[in-house]
Parts: sequence; structure tokens; C-alpha cells
Amino acid sequence: MLHRIPTLSDYFSLRSALVISVILPLAMAMGLTGYLLLQLVERNIEHRMQKDLELVARAIQLPLSHSMELKRQGSVLRAVESAFSIGRVYSAYVYDRQGRRIASAGRSEPTPEQERLTELAADGKQRGEYGNVAGREVFSYFVPLTDSGGRINGLLQLTRRKSDIQEDVRAVRARVALGLGLGLLFMSGLVLFGHHRALGQYLSSLENSMSRVAEGDQNHRLQPHGPKEIVNIGRQFNRMLDTIEEAKAELRERRIRQMQLQAQLRQTEKLAAIGELAAGVAHELGTPLSVVSGKAQRVLRKSALDAEIVETLRDIRREVDRMEHIIRQLLDFSRCNALRKKPTCLTQLIRSAVSAVSEDAENHRTCLETVFPLGNANEALQINLDSVRMEQVLVNLIRNAVQSASGGRAVVSCGKKENQAWMQVDDDGPGIPLEIETKLFEPFFTTKSVGHGTGLGLAVVHGILRDHGGSIEFGKSRLGGAFFRIWLSVDHEPTIRG
Ligand code: ADP
Repeated sequence: MLHRIPTLSDYFSLRSALVISVILPLAMAMGLTGYLLLQLVERNIEHRMQKDLELVARAIQLPLSHSMELKRQGSVLRAVESAFSIGRVYSAYVYDRQGRRIASAGRSEPTPEQERLTELAADGKQRGEYGNVAGREVFSYFVPLTDSGGRINGLLQLTRRKSDIQEDVRAVRARVALGLGLGLLFMSGLVLFGHHRALGQYLSSLENSMSRVAEGDQNHRLQPHGPKEIVNIGRQFNRMLDTIEEAKAELRERRIRQMQLQAQLRQTEKLAAIGELAAGVAHELGTPLSVVSGKAQRVLRKSALDAEIVETLRDIRREVDRMEHIIRQLLDFSRCNALRKKPTCLTQLIRSAVSAVSEDAENHRTCLETVFPLGNANEALQINLDSVRMEQVLVNLIRNAVQSASGGRAVVSCGKKENQAWMQVDDDGPGIPLEIETKLFEPFFTTKSVGHGTGLGLAVVHGILRDHGGSIEFGKSRLGGAFFRIWLSVDHEPTIRG
């Protein structure tokens, strides 16, 4: 057996595999994009807020410079305070050229060093930078103040808390994260729903069907529906089940056939062994019995005999006749001469058999009837067979019917169906009990009392039909008793249908 290296999909369901191989990478891609986007946005916000501060500074720069030039302390303060009404400013400070603070507004004390402020003022450039004011991180924007002659006469410092900027960034970050989360959730739902609609539902119905079959419901078949590939899998699955079923049925049939053949073989072997024994015994007994019968006949011919002796001699002859009848049956049973087939008319064959049994019928007061097909159909009933042996078959069947229907009715009929001819014997006797059906054709099986049956009649019938390639069936007759029907076909082993 080949061992394959297990892959990820061996450990997960299709849905989990989809989550791992589609949704997870998607989430990671979205996360990364979100992160980069956020960086951009954060930088943007920071820049915008710095720009805001710059705008505020510029707005008050002119009035402040003017007030400084005129040295109006009140106007300077008002101009500084007006910065708070324009935008979000944490604190505002005004310094003179030497870096001394001359006005301030807002929350805390600024602490830039004086030289640095002088430097900034002297520089004459606007600039923004991060620094610390009263322990808080702030962003400061410095704007130099000039008099009407363009000379630098001071410095304006506007600050804004870094946390203000961060708050905005945090808000944006939360919004972006929420948006990404919702988007991912929506997309995951979409992927999973799409998987269910397009594949999942059909796969689970396929799985259900397979489970039902695995649990033993061999007749269950899938109703393939859904995408083409699934329908194909379903059809292949059904075809596979059909093939398995066919193979099983064939196997069953073969097994039955094999058992039948074995039973037939056993029966044939048994019949052959019995036939051999019977032929030997019959042969050995035939001569002494004819001697006994002949001698009894000769003694009977003598006139001066006691009535009692005459009766005894007749008894001896009757019993010898019976023994000869049994021997004849034994010989019939064991006979394996080649058939002497010739075209024979079935109605004539039946008439001849009926007349051979008529005495028996009278003795049992059984009304023996024949029913033949009308007109031309009768002529078609010409079959190539050994008439002597086939008559023996009919005689045995009719005799059984006459005996069973004692005081009743027995009907012999014949006909043709397709390329097979049939002859049937019905009676209104008690019928055949279920428990003896399997033994009927066994040699020496009889339910008749000692002296009335040998149990060879149906065994002989079976042997002769086998030699003719015919078959026999039996069952409950429409007259109420039993029926036996012979089918004569060419090149067939005899079969028994009960
Ligand atoms: P025998 O007639 O000597 O008993 P057969 O082989 O002809 O031997 O018949 C075997 C047994 O089959 C009979 O003993 C009887 O029980 C049964 N049988 C045969 N034909 C009939 C019938 N027409 N109706 C009922 N039973 C029958």
C-alpha cells in the first residue's frame, strides 16, 4: 500500500480548509492593508492638526506683532487669548526678542530655555516640534513676530497636547478596526454561505447517502443534483452500487446453481448405485419366480385338487405376479438402454396409457377422463420420443392419480406452449403434503402401505424424463388434489419444479 504524506486538508473539513486557506489569508491581507492605511491616515491626521495650529498662529501673528510694536500689553493678551477661539490650542505664549515671556494663556507654564527661545526668535523661521510642557508631551509651533519695519521683535509659541492628536488617531484606528472586522465578518459569511450554496449542501446529501449505504441500506440510491461534478460523482456512486448489487446477485445465482448441481449429482450417483443393485437383484429373482409361478400353474391344471390347495396355489401365483411387477419396476428404474425415439402423437400415447390403467381405475372406482386440444392443434402434438418408455411415465402418473382420487376423478390432458409440449394428470385426491414434496422422486419413497407401493413409480418417471431432456412439475390441482405436468423439450436435463 502506498503511503501518502498527509496534507492540511486531511485534518480539516472542507469548510475549515476554506477558512484556513481563503478566509485567513484574506484576513491577514486585510489586516496588513488596514495597518498600512492606518499609518497613512495617522500621519495625515498629525499633519492636519499641525497645520491647524500653524493656521491659528498665522491668524493671530499680525495683530500680535502690531500690539507688540505699540507695546500694548492688553491687546497682546487679547490677541493671544483669541487663539483659543479659533482652534484647538492647549497653551499660547509670547516672548520678546530676548526670550522673556511677556504674555501667556492656557493651562501650564512653558519651560523652554531662554537661549533656545532667543535662537528661535533670531532665526526668523516658523517651525513645529515636539517637546515637554509641565510633564505633558506637546507639539509646539513657533512663529517669529515682526514690527512694521520687518524686524523681529518677539516669538509666538502655540502648543497642542500630543494626546489630543493621539485621541483622534485612536478614534480613527478604532473605526478602521471596526470597519475591517465587519468587512471580514461579512466576507467570511459570504464565503461560507457561497460554499454551502454551491457545494456544501450537495456534499452533505452525498455524504448522507453514502452513510445510509454503509449502514446497510443497499437499495438506497442517490438523487444526483447540484453542480455537474457532484452530479457525476452521484451517478458514478449509483453505478458502483448497481455493479456491486449485480455482482452479488450473480454470485448468489451461481451459488444456488452450484448447490443444485451438487444435489443433482448426489441424486444421480444415488440413483445409479440403487439402479445397479436393483438390476442385479431383479435379474437374480426373475428366473426363480417364473419357475415358482410355472410350477404352481402346472399343479393347478390338475383336476383332482382340494379346494383349499387350489386357493393356496392361486395365492402363490398372485404374490408371484406382484413380485414380478416389482421386479419389472426395478428393471424399468435401472434400465439405461438407448432411447428408441420416433415421432409419436401425444393424444394416442395418452389413450394407450389410459387404457393400460383403466382396470386399476375401475377397481378404485375413479372416473378417468381425457381432455385434448380441439381440431388441428391436436395434429401439432407430434413429438419425437421413445413411446414405450414415455407411456410408462404416463401409466405411473395416472396410476398414482387414480389411487389417490379413489372414488373421485382423474383428468389427463395435453397441449403445446411455444416450442414445448406438455402432458398433465390432475386428480381430486388429498394432494401432496408439503413435508414429502422434496422426497417424492427418491427411489423407494412411498406413503402407501406395504404391498401397495414400491416407491419406484416417480423415480422411474424422473429417469425417463431425464433421458428425454424433459422436465416435470407438480402442485395443487384445480380439481382439489395434485397435478403432475410433464414438459418435453429438447436438450435439457430434467428439472423438478414443486
Ligand atoms: P408409489 O406410488 O409406489 O408410492 P411413487 O414414486 O409413484 O411410488 O409415489 C411416491 C409417493 O408420492 C406416493 O407414495 C404418494 O405419497 C405420493 N404421490 C404420488 N402421486 C400422488 C398423487 N397424485 N396424489 C398424492 N400423492 C401422490
